[in-house]
Amino acid sequence: MTDRTAFLNHLGGVLAGIEAEGLTKRERLIHGAQGAHVQMQGKQVLNLCANNYLGLADDPRLVQAAKDAMDAGGYGMASVRFICGTADQHRRLELRLAQFLGTDDSILFAACFDANGGLFEPLLGPEDAVISDSLNHASIIDGIRLCKARRYRYANADMADLEAQLQTARADGARFILIATDGVFSMDGYLAKLPEIRALADVYGAMLMVDDCHSTGFMGPQGRGTPAHFGVTADILTGTLGKALGGALGGYIAGPQAVIDVLRQRARPYLFSNALPPAVVGAGLAALDIVEAADDLRAALFDNARYWRAGLEAMGFRLLPGSHPIVPVMLEEAKLAQAMAADLADRGVHVAGFFFPVVPKGQARIRTQMNARLTRDDLDFALAAFAASGRKLGVIA
Ligand SMILES: *Cc1c(COP(=O)(O)O)cnc(C)c1O
Repeated sequence: MTDRTAFLNHLGGVLAGIEAEGLTKRERLIHGAQGAHVQMQGKQVLNLCANNYLGLADDPRLVQAAKDAMDAGGYGMASVRFICGTADQHRRLELRLAQFLGTDDSILFAACFDANGGLFEPLLGPEDAVISDSLNHASIIDGIRLCKARRYRYANADMADLEAQLQTARADGARFILIATDGVFSMDGYLAKLPEIRALADVYGAMLMVDDCHSTGFMGPQGRGTPAHFGVTADILTGTLGKALGGALGGYIAGPQAVIDVLRQRARPYLFSNALPPAVVGAGLAALDIVEAADDLRAALFDNARYWRAGLEAMGFRLLPGSHPIVPVMLEEAKLAQAMAADLADRGVHVAGFFFPVVPKGQARIRTQMNARLTRDDLDFALAAFAASGRKLGVIA
């Protein structure tokens, strides 16, 4: 047997193991545009699992802005930013994001995964400390792994543990301390306790970084995110254009000028990866204009979240508490989450089961997400499907 054959056999075994545990993720194909309703396997289904909170993914204004930007600026940049990949629109979007978020400046990345991957290493050295919530997004975890600062972790949202880690970092002689947290924890829909985290940061002279991917556009006044929602200031923000802000792709870091300037010199995913294409940048600018004025969409989104939660709870489903448009239906077992997602698809409702390694073992769930464009009829249809499926699979009585 060659090494190559042995290696491929080994990978086959890995895949068989994933399958045996019921953890295989299968991609279902949608046809046409992303939206509250999508075409799947030849039929129209309701879609309750996109990060399309404001329903902008197929918004004609964004499609037009993307076309206009492509007509004016072409298809691709064929360069990283610092060689010849910076168009006037890139700087306009960076300054527009900074204005929207209330920071000095911002810097674009191909994705927020890259923004988080590139954030820590240029800013912090071995003399420094980064203190991270245990449920932070994988990209924060990876970004921290890539930096030389000492790492401390606190149990999710546990403020006593955060304080203990701050004390340890200080006792260990840290020069600078950065606390890193998601603004909203995406598997649970829980908000980070930003007022308490900010207060602790101030007591211990630490800085605060918030990844606001599941918040920007719909939480807080004008959709400025969780810090604005709580009325606190984060020192560094990261976010995505790939969720509420139109759902295409692109990430950013926003913060003080010196932070952004150093990242522009040193952040590896910025220096060694292509500039965002004109269509995405042009539509990103249009998305911010729409979002700032979208109090109606935000109201519809949170009305839908309230109605949906109340309906599911009345039927006896176990939800995680909260008011965020992420509404997790807890099922514990991965196979049950898979079976229920498949059964709901047959009933015309597209949802995704989440299970290990995305959430801890034994905490499998169907994560539903609300969208401003879902109607009451849509939600009643989905509630009826959940009722039938939940009874069939013995989840509810
Ligand atoms: C979605 C998400 C990301 C990744 O964003 P992309 O722009 O899709 O790479 C990073 N952090 C959090 C908290 C997210 O939810």
